[in-house]
Amino acid sequence: MIPISSVDLGPEVEAEVLKVLRSGMVAQGPVVAEFERRFAELTGVRHAVAVNNGTTALVAALQVLDLQEGDEVLTTPFTFVATLNAILEAGATATFADIAESDFNLDAAAAAAAVTDRTAVLMPVHLYGQTVDAGAFRELADSHDLALVEDSAQSHGATFEGRAAGSFGLGCFSFYGTKNLTTGEGGVITTDDDTLADRLRVLRNQGMRARYQYEVAGHNYRLTDLQAAVVLPQLDRYAATVARRKANAARLTEGLDGVPGLVVPRELPGRSHVWHQFTVRLTPDARVDRDEFVARLTEAGIGNGIYYPRLVFDYDCYRDHPRVRVGDVPVAERIVREVVSLPVHPKVSDADVDTIVSAVRSILGA
Ligand SMILES: *Cc1c(COP(=O)(O)O)cnc(C)c1O
Repeated sequence: MIPISSVDLGPEVEAEVLKVLRSGMVAQGPVVAEFERRFAELTGVRHAVAVNNGTTALVAALQVLDLQEGDEVLTTPFTFVATLNAILEAGATATFADIAESDFNLDAAAAAAAVTDRTAVLMPVHLYGQTVDAGAFRELADSHDLALVEDSAQSHGATFEGRAAGSFGLGCFSFYGTKNLTTGEGGVITTDDDTLADRLRVLRNQGMRARYQYEVAGHNYRLTDLQAAVVLPQLDRYAATVARRKANAARLTEGLDGVPGLVVPRELPGRSHVWHQFTVRLTPDARVDRDEFVARLTEAGIGNGIYYPRLVFDYDCYRDHPRVRVGDVPVAERIVREVVSLPVHPKVSDADVDTIVSAVRSILGA
């Protein structure tokens, strides 16, 4: 079986974790601080604030924006549920605009048309490892005086015109076990804003400035040194990891381009894709439907995934929610029925890619 994702830790990680264990300092301490320094550097921002997971990162980012009751956060309907849960947990109302077929991401023009006088935050998601049209979102935020929160959970180090995901607004990253970089569970908020970074640091630690000096009603959102130790060796070799993902994506693209009924994903001009997922679309003219395609891939030993089987609001708990406002999103409605992700992670070898390509070609009669 070629798995759809795989964790690659190894002896360097074991050594780092053992150092922390032996130091006796297992809670938030110097290793978290080192992780924050290095991740800020990777993202090209002044501050990275580590928290206990990616959902918390989104909630904390919204919390330091001081939203008022009735404020709306405009996001994409095609994302992991955490994006929506974070908006609701922060007390805001979620609204949606349609996505672009070219990159699966929230479409900037559709977002502009969906802004209302209650919109306070734009929250696009850099899905599958490719950024949104980040320049357009920055301009839209500036022209309407909106905050920009980037759900960057899947796009560590992805760039738009040379600038990294998470450097256009408040960047929210996940370090969950299946992401491109992992601490098991973990999150980071990135920003160039000194005041917001300071408020995030206080908020994550019970609202405490100095020992027993409380400034706001805070939380315990802290990451631990034990967790941060897991990611440091991954940061050392992240450029090579991304290069391997890019090579796999290029070989998959070359092998699958032009297969009838199949649309391969593209890295758009000016963007550097970090290939968290390699997601093809099976169009209605394909020889088999998606259920059969997926069943035959699995039979052939090829891991696959449907991210995501439904639009994020398409469950009763959200459709009936008083703070979820569902709009018309025809492109997303179509694409959600077409996507299938194939293995692209660094442990996929050239031979594995060739196996995937020939299986897909044979299933689709190419
Ligand atoms: C993984 C993910 C999150 C949430 O991160 P956790 O660390 O699992 O809480 C949020 N948004 C997107 C798009 C994700 O893929």
